[in-house]
Amino acid sequence: MARIELVNLAHAYKANPAKPSDYALLPMTMSWDDGGAYALLGPSGCGKTTLLNIISGLVKPSHGKVLFDGKDITNLPTEARNIAQVFQFPVIYDTMTVRENLAFPLKNRQWKTADINKRVGQIAEILELTPDLSHRASGLTADAKQKISLGRGLVRPDVAAVLFDEPLTVIDPHLKWLLRRKLKEIHHELKLSLIYVTHDQIEALTFADQVVVMTQGEVVQVGSAQALFEEPEHTFVGYFIGNPGMNLLPCTVSQHRAHIAEVGQSVAVPTSLAIGPASGVVKLGIRPEFVMASATQAADALASILTSARNMGTHWLLECQLGAHRIAVKQHAPPDARIGETLWLSFPPARTLFYVNDRRVV
Ligand code: ADP
Ligand code: MG
Repeated sequence: MARIELVNLAHAYKANPAKPSDYALLPMTMSWDDGGAYALLGPSGCGKTTLLNIISGLVKPSHGKVLFDGKDITNLPTEARNIAQVFQFPVIYDTMTVRENLAFPLKNRQWKTADINKRVGQIAEILELTPDLSHRASGLTADAKQKISLGRGLVRPDVAAVLFDEPLTVIDPHLKWLLRRKLKEIHHELKLSLIYVTHDQIEALTFADQVVVMTQGEVVQVGSAQALFEEPEHTFVGYFIGNPGMNLLPCTVSQHRAHIAEVGQSVAVPTSLAIGPASGVVKLGIRPEFVMASATQAADALASILTSARNMGTHWLLECQLGAHRIAVKQHAPPDARIGETLWLSFPPARTLFYVNDRRVV
């Protein structure tokens, strides 16, 4: 296993990139600790597979370096990097048995038969493949095939890291949940460094200790589930994480108040917030979970119109109209106003964040 560092890493598939949109990956410098469980989370096309393939050596970056334990391996081929990669669609040998499939990476490295059997047995046990070991892989379901593919990725104990590229896409939702838990157990048991790529926030947040959030070739935040939820560093993290995501209201700040754009109402802001009109586009961000809504007017509350209220089973989801802005509110109790009536919205200062040009300033 190894500590992986990316130094001024960037990648463009096209020659002579000029503008940011020419890059699949914008310059990034970051490190991944040895033994860590990381998720790489972002929408389709944001550069996740490109980054994974650069780490494994399938793609050579157009700029910057990749270091394993401080050693520059940017120009080393995949075989010399000691990386295991599990792809989105299972790659297995149909004519071999499950045991032979799992043993393959070890056989290739001239392991002794007794050692192979021991390790394959251990991996099969963890993935609940033991009863299938002597079966031919061709007859198995898509789920079982992906388990074999996962097993092949995990079987070598000496790899620098195991990279997973959306490995559960073809898996049935219930098994998906089980496998995700398994992977977490495996991480604790086998102490491998794991990098798990997904576009699914639930998958990322349950699997990883640290989630790397990407959009349009850029890493916008690396953090725990709690940090991404409570203190999104970028508006993208605010609205991508959460269901629904963060409410983001364009505003201008003057005399310690944030004036919500085109509404004629304002809320107090922290005295430390000094944002002039020249700073850029200012947005107030608050998660639906933290908005307080009441039919009774409260100090510093904004008057909105309740437009919808749905009982979601575990909570109520309200939608309120504030001028042209729609605000989502999540709360335990039903609203105390009817549809079309006024609902006063309060934003607790500790939960109200401010963004300038999409970066958090408070
Ligand atoms: P993700 O895995 O997050 O969906 P990718 O890394 O596959 O994203 O793609 C990032 C960007 O790079 C996309 O705009 C995609 O179209 C482009 N891209 C990916 N692979 C290639 C390639 N081999 N040649 C040219 N462009 C590519
Ligand atoms: Mg991809």
